[in-house]
Amino acid sequence: MKIVMLGPPGAGKGTYASRLNVSLGIPHISTGDMVRDEIKAQTELGKKIKQYSDKGELVPDDIIIQLLADRLKKPDCKKGFILDGFPRTINQAEALEKISRIDVVVNIKVPDDIIITRLSNRVTCKKCGAIYNLLTLKPKKEGICDNCGGELYLRYDDKPKVIQERLNVYRKNTEPLIKYYRDKRLLKDIQCNDLMTPPEVIVAQILKILEKIEKK
Ligand code: AMP
Repeated sequence: MKIVMLGPPGAGKGTYASRLNVSLGIPHISTGDMVRDEIKAQTELGKKIKQYSDKGELVPDDIIIQLLADRLKKPDCKKGFILDGFPRTINQAEALEKISRIDVVVNIKVPDDIIITRLSNRVTCKKCGAIYNLLTLKPKKEGICDNCGGELYLRYDDKPKVIQERLNVYRKNTEPLIKYYRDKRLLKDIQCNDLMTPPEVIVAQILKILEKIEKK
């Protein structure tokens, strides 16, 4: 199954995708993680894209499309994949169509107040990338990842000023993808109105949708 997770920053795409990865046995591909890895490794590409990412702006399409195209060529993507954070522009969606078929686009709808509360309380593991929330999904031991014992940190772009910019960028560049995929009859909406809804509940809803598609 080839899945795209769509939704604003803080909608829970990464949290749900990492759980779907376990249930479905297909890779969770986060272009945001790929961008952060390049920056951390201080590659030439990393140095180039840091300026955009730090400000909450999108990395230019040609760079991110190339990164994703290379990732999708890897053998673990043959059976399927879960894309998290890609596509983010119509141009990227058109490029993706040339690279691979897509079976479903899961559109996670979340009110703005939840997004802001989520992002300002989100911490991520430096080592394995697991995502926690200091209000709703606390690690067992403060500052330490339950999975691997890695150190938890607040992402630079989860600071209030950058969050606002990322939301603006989402509205302008990414939201048009909802109509784009609805017109192609690929879109399935998932609504989450309550900050305290456990991820398992949403993941179960997504799995139900996927089951129905598979049966068709
Ligand atoms: P994320 O973790 O998905 O919120 O992504 C973090 C940052 O990486 C974004 O704010 C962008 O700067 C960059 N990024 C990730 N995915 C994309 C994409 N598909 N297109 C452009 N920039 C991206």
